Amino acid sequence: MNNLWIVAAFVLPFIIMQAFDWLRPKPPSWSQEQHDIELFKVNRCPDCSSDKLLAGPSGGMSQNAACNNCLMEYNVHFVPGHDVFKVDRIGKMEMGRARIFGIQAEEYSNIVEKLIKGE
Ligand SMILES: [Zn+2]
Repeated sequence: MNNLWIVAAFVLPFIIMQAFDWLRPKPPSWSQEQHDIELFKVNRCPDCSSDKLLAGPSGGMSQNAACNNCLMEYNVHFVPGHDVFKVDRIGKMEMGRARIFGIQAEEYSNIVEKLIKGE
């Protein structure tokens, strides 16, 4: 019986600590918005992490960018000389749109085929 109390004295504090774990402050996690911005800061596609980003038309404080790996097109907002502050998803590019970024029809088809296969 005495042994049981000794074991309980060592084990109970850990059980109690675990039970109150939800009270411990957690490091904040990125929102989707922050995630997109941080990936653009390091020239990576927020959707597939590829570094094959292509620059498209730009105007004012925004720049169209497209991913040559997953075909997602973005509108990236920034102040010249400063970091990206907002990223909008335009959507997956259609072939006509891809041509603006210099992706030719054959290359476009190859990428689409690759995406369908899930490679
Ligand atoms: Zn991508």
